[in-house]
Amino acid sequence: MNQKLRSEHIRHKLFWSMSVIIASLLIISVPLTVNSYFSYKKSELALSEILVLQNVAELANNVSRERAPSNKVMSSTPEELEANLKELTEYRKKVDRQIQKTVYVLNSHGFPDQSEALYINLIKRLETGRKAVDEYVATPVSIRSAEQLDQAIKKMFVAWDATHVVLKDVVYHSVGRTSSISDNYTLVLLLADLRDQAGRVASTIMAAVSYQQPIAENNISRSLQNQYQVHYLWDLINTLQPAEQRTEEYLDLHKKVQAEFINKGIPVVAGLVQESRQNKPYSLTGTELTKAMVEKFATVVDLQSYILKRSLSSVERSYKKEFRKFIFTLTVSAISLFSALFTLIYARKKVFTPLIEARQKILELSESHQSISHKIMEDKREISLFEAIQKLQTMLQQRDILEFQLRNIANTDVLTGVSNRLALNEYIRLLELRPERLTQTGLIIIDIDDFKIVNDRFGHIIGDQVIKFVADTLKEHLTSSELVVRYGGDEFLIIIDNTNFKDALILAENIRQSIGRSDCYIKELNEFVGISVSAGVAVGAVSWMALLERADKSLLKVKTQGKNAVLG
Ligand code: GH3
Ligand code: MG
Repeated sequence: MNQKLRSEHIRHKLFWSMSVIIASLLIISVPLTVNSYFSYKKSELALSEILVLQNVAELANNVSRERAPSNKVMSSTPEELEANLKELTEYRKKVDRQIQKTVYVLNSHGFPDQSEALYINLIKRLETGRKAVDEYVATPVSIRSAEQLDQAIKKMFVAWDATHVVLKDVVYHSVGRTSSISDNYTLVLLLADLRDQAGRVASTIMAAVSYQQPIAENNISRSLQNQYQVHYLWDLINTLQPAEQRTEEYLDLHKKVQAEFINKGIPVVAGLVQESRQNKPYSLTGTELTKAMVEKFATVVDLQSYILKRSLSSVERSYKKEFRKFIFTLTVSAISLFSALFTLIYARKKVFTPLIEARQKILELSESHQSISHKIMEDKREISLFEAIQKLQTMLQQRDILEFQLRNIANTDVLTGVSNRLALNEYIRLLELRPERLTQTGLIIIDIDDFKIVNDRFGHIIGDQVIKFVADTLKEHLTSSELVVRYGGDEFLIIIDNTNFKDALILAENIRQSIGRSDCYIKELNEFVGISVSAGVAVGAVSWMALLERADKSLLKVKTQGKNAVLG
């Protein structure tokens, strides 16, 4: 019962150790995996947001750019009109398609409010702007006015405002971006602004230039304000762009904006304003002004596209990295947890449980051999496996001693204490395993002379004492390397290893003389019984049987020749 409790105790300990290891692994791996999952989800969100930003920025640029074909149509000569109208219609279709696409992208990437705002505000304002342009174009040239043209241009500005609001809103609500690309979002916004402000710089003077009229003062001041804003935004862009992001491609695009747009584009407008102030004829027509400016704007859009492209590839890289990290963390966590579980279950099943069972069996075995008092004492404390093994070891040692004793008993003649025929058989078996030893093995057969007479005269009990006396005398003459066997009733064998005939003969003779000399004292009779022995000697043979036969023949010969002698 106590053993069972002890095993249960070990089992519980094991269970708790397992639980602590698994819980520790869970404590480490779960937060790691969850963090890695959130980082991955954030990078996925950043990727989705940058795609949205790219779409809206492109739409904003294209809506802004629609002013170019619109202005071109409005300032067309009758000959140019048809071709320019076609170009405008195509461009409007392109913008419309892009509005639909952007509305869809916004909606499907978590910006439903912005999608709705874009849909409602942009479409409405764009319609108003386009209507004003169409009305202007439909108005006969003779009754058109610069003011009507200016109004149409302004209404097109309003349409862009709607996309700009959405663009700002998308940047504001983009939460997935990391600090490394955060500035790029602002840059995209500023460049969109820059491009539009620049458009306004030209558009505010477009009507007056087209009509070859002096530019109204408020338009001049608006244009100057726009010019000022262009420079301000450009300075801001230069300050914001981190030095490490200024790649060769970036520097090249930046140089183009500076050279084409800032250094050449803006001065074109400034020159026209100057011409207006000096009442000089304009060096450009409205169409030429539009064309000149559109080419310059392209550099801004190129720079913006480049920044968006770089941001997208950076976000894509981090998305892939985070995804790999998440999968790696998940896999490593799962593998370590699984391995821990497997190892623990395996260890429990294949190591601990068998060990506990072995310990219990060992204890049962060792305890079954203990005295009761000992057992009661042991019950009071728990026994370790080591102690149990020690107990078993002691028990096995005791058993070995017992077995040794039993073997000795089985191999010993009870009356004389010398070996019996069982021991002799074993010896012969070993001897015949190495037949070469037989060539140097000596055999002496000793038989008490006329022993029947002793028995008849004094009885068997006294006879036994005589046999014992002969055996004791033999033992006195022999060392432990020689084997003495009681072969028959009054017959003994002496087996000598590594001997020669002469030595064997001398030994036999010594024994015979010793027995013949010393009479056997019989206590019960208080008298000495004189006895003699005869011996047959043989040394070296091809087999045990041959050796035995030869020694036996010699003995027989002695017996027939008168006894009390040795013959070989
Ligand atoms: P021999 O000189 O020819 O040997 O004559 P023997 O009388 O000794 O004849 P033998 O050796 O053939 O007889 C042995 C006798 O020993 C026969 C048997 O009754 C007796 N004997 C055998 N075993 C025991 C024993 O254990 N105790 C006693 N007291 N007598 C035994
Ligand atoms: Mg005899």
